[in-house]
Amino acid sequence: MVLNLIVLGAPGAGKGTQAERFARRRGIPKISTGDILREAVHTGTEIGRRAKAVMDRGELVSDDVIVGIVRERLDQRDAKAGFVLDGFPRTVVQAKALDEMVNGRGPLVVVDFAVPEAELVRRLASRLICEKCGTNADRGVDAADPEGCKRCGGRLVQRADDNVDVVRERLEVYHRQSEPLVDYYRGRPTFRTIDGAQSPDRVAADFVAAVEAAAGGLTAAEGARH
Ligand code: AMP
Repeated sequence: MVLNLIVLGAPGAGKGTQAERFARRRGIPKISTGDILREAVHTGTEIGRRAKAVMDRGELVSDDVIVGIVRERLDQRDAKAGFVLDGFPRTVVQAKALDEMVNGRGPLVVVDFAVPEAELVRRLASRLICEKCGTNADRGVDAADPEGCKRCGGRLVQRADDNVDVVRERLEVYHRQSEPLVDYYRGRPTFRTIDGAQSPDRVAADFVAAVEAAAGGLTAAEGARH
């Protein structure tokens, strides 16, 4: 059965890492709007050129642009069997557009990662990513590894928007524009909240359990085949 999954939570809540892990296990694509935009900035496309300044300030790219990107991506063949969306939706307007996009494509499961503010700030300030492939490094700034990215060997750097001032703005934007999404989804039987402040392995276990419970056992049945 098709699993359409979205992960909600503040920047630094760990949803990207967990979405990646989950999607790999299930053999479905992880679609991160942040990754798509960073790639567009990197290659210098029209969208990338326009998005760069907005991203550097920690603000949100316009709903029109981002909905267009996601609509196109979800139309690709590999997403027909399900997907994990990371970083989208971020506004209620985007959530409504997503409801339309997935209409008739199976249930939309929503998992919210709850993490206290102080822990978010700590994580974002120390997070490193690969300059080449964008993968999050497991270690922080203090323990930078000269060997670089585990996946491709690329240099590990701090994300441009992880500096203290931009982090503050991104958290504010989250509270103002994205937190209302929890109210938008809360009443649905496929909505779950998990404690994202635990160790990555505990979060991963809770994540799988939450998805299984929300989707009514559908992942348990499919997981048994792997
Ligand atoms: P992320 O990697 O998810 O933290 O996204 C990095 C930046 O990309 C955000 O701070 C926004 O500027 C932009 N962005 C990513 N996803 C969205 C979205 N769904 N709506 C608007 N802007 C987005």
